Amino acid sequence: MPIEEAARKLEVVTDVPNRAMVVFAHPDDAEIGSGGVIAKWVAAGCEVTYVLCTDGGAGTADRSLTPGELTGQRAREQRAAADFMGVKNLVMLGHPDGGLQDSREFLGDVVRAIRQYRPHTVFAHDPYRMKGFQHRDHRMVGIVTTDAVYPFARDHLHFPEHITDDKLEPHRVRELWYWGMDEPEIIVDVTGWIDKQVAALVRHESQVPGFNVPPGETIGARVKQNAAERAQGYGFEHGAVFRRLIARR
Ligand SMILES: [Zn+2]
Repeated sequence: MPIEEAARKLEVVTDVPNRAMVVFAHPDDAEIGSGGVIAKWVAAGCEVTYVLCTDGGAGTADRSLTPGELTGQRAREQRAAADFMGVKNLVMLGHPDGGLQDSREFLGDVVRAIRQYRPHTVFAHDPYRMKGFQHRDHRMVGIVTTDAVYPFARDHLHFPEHITDDKLEPHRVRELWYWGMDEPEIIVDVTGWIDKQVAALVRHESQVPGFNVPPGETIGARVKQNAAERAQGYGFEHGAVFRRLIARR
């Protein structure tokens, strides 16, 4: 099959939900995974919540930084990136970097965030990517978020203390979108939004030493090229791709 014909098999999604949530392991994962779409959706009126699962305390090659200095800096960077993106709510769960487990506690954290912020669409790492290495924390986030969406946030007898004590209600997420998948199924036209995605990414200064001088040059070129390749054959310049699960009634 010619490459352009193969590319066009993806469904082009144009709908913008009223509320969306991005669940991710480390500061900067959200901007990399879903930044173009989130920038576009926020501008269209979507209310977005970020759920950052770890404190990012392992993300440096600088041995002079203490873990406390690093986590403080990464939290500030994430807040700056979220503010810049127009993300309304930022939840920081504060689990240790590299220490995420498929645990009752972590599952409860994500279920609570879903019940509180009530997203139509949830984004997360694809836990089932087989091609290539993937950070363990990314797998854990993908698995726990999948379970949180269905059935744990939906059914009132799971984590009933959220309902009885915290006065939250169960919530049914409609769609779960994974980034970092082996085989994408859908594509969103993000033409005009890559620059914003990259500008948010360079708010994470600790992650890319020297990378914001000049602003976003290296990573920007890479993100743009990737988005341009994804969009080939669709009639727009830049695309973001995902694997999608839909909750049927
Ligand atoms: Zn990560």
